[in-house]
Amino acid sequence: MIYPWLNDVHQQLTASFNAGRFHHGQLFNGQQGVGKHALVEELANALLCSAPQNLVACGHCKSCHLNQAVTHPDKYTVQTDGQSIGVDDIRSVSDFMQQSAAQNANKVVVINDCHKMTTAAANALLKTLEEPSPQRFLLLTTNATAQLPATILSRCALSEVKVHNTEVAMQWIAQLNVPAYPWLKLFTQQPLLVARWQQDEQLEVIDQLYKFATELKQGHNFSALVDIISKDNERIRVFSLFLSEQLKQQLITGMDFDSYQNAQNALAEFVQNSTQILGLNLPLAVSRLAYRLRNSHK
Ligand SMILES: [Zn+2]
Repeated sequence: MIYPWLNDVHQQLTASFNAGRFHHGQLFNGQQGVGKHALVEELANALLCSAPQNLVACGHCKSCHLNQAVTHPDKYTVQTDGQSIGVDDIRSVSDFMQQSAAQNANKVVVINDCHKMTTAAANALLKTLEEPSPQRFLLLTTNATAQLPATILSRCALSEVKVHNTEVAMQWIAQLNVPAYPWLKLFTQQPLLVARWQQDEQLEVIDQLYKFATELKQGHNFSALVDIISKDNERIRVFSLFLSEQLKQQLITGMDFDSYQNAQNALAEFVQNSTQILGLNLPLAVSRLAYRLRNSHK
């Protein structure tokens, strides 16, 4: 596998594939940045390849060349940048599944962020899942199984995509020449997120957020912080993750539980308001959060 921490889950899938027990509906659940999409792409390539070895594509056959050119006619991908995957998207999936395969072999559909399916879309997909045709495979990814209907969940084989050995992820991050930031250990389940930050030259910004989080309770001027987090929900979530981790440390070192809960509630409220309320007065929200955290210690 391209990412070493995915070997475990790939081995399990290979075992079921080699034993002829590979389910036609595969659901992959895991955090953003753990590598679900890469895993699913490799599986799709292997399922379409004419000479796969242990569920790994050969890389040389006609199907593999088509996949490398992203033009394989027997592969169909659904993904959305928006809020939802609609019923029309899923009808296209059903149509695609029903047509015969161009390469006379398997056909594969990938649906990313499948928890974004509307109820109607999920119902439409259910039919495809309930009446599997031979040589048809559905590979679904999500980071929120709780948002999926039980009917979909019960008809898929679920794999949890995780970093089991955090050392492996830390080594992988280290070989990207990422500095040894103290906060890296919070992202061992999301190595590709760290890689993206490095690629986008965002690591220093994240490090600044870490420092702001450390100093928030002492601070009175938050304009630099507000500049960084305004209009960027990911940064707001990262900032609040840093604060939340600090609170956990304080709980371990003697903060009483009521104060801890009050502080975590204040934080959760801050995240919800600042990521969802359009035109929120962010400087005020940050000051209020700092005030509430400062006063959470009785
Ligand atoms: Zn091949």
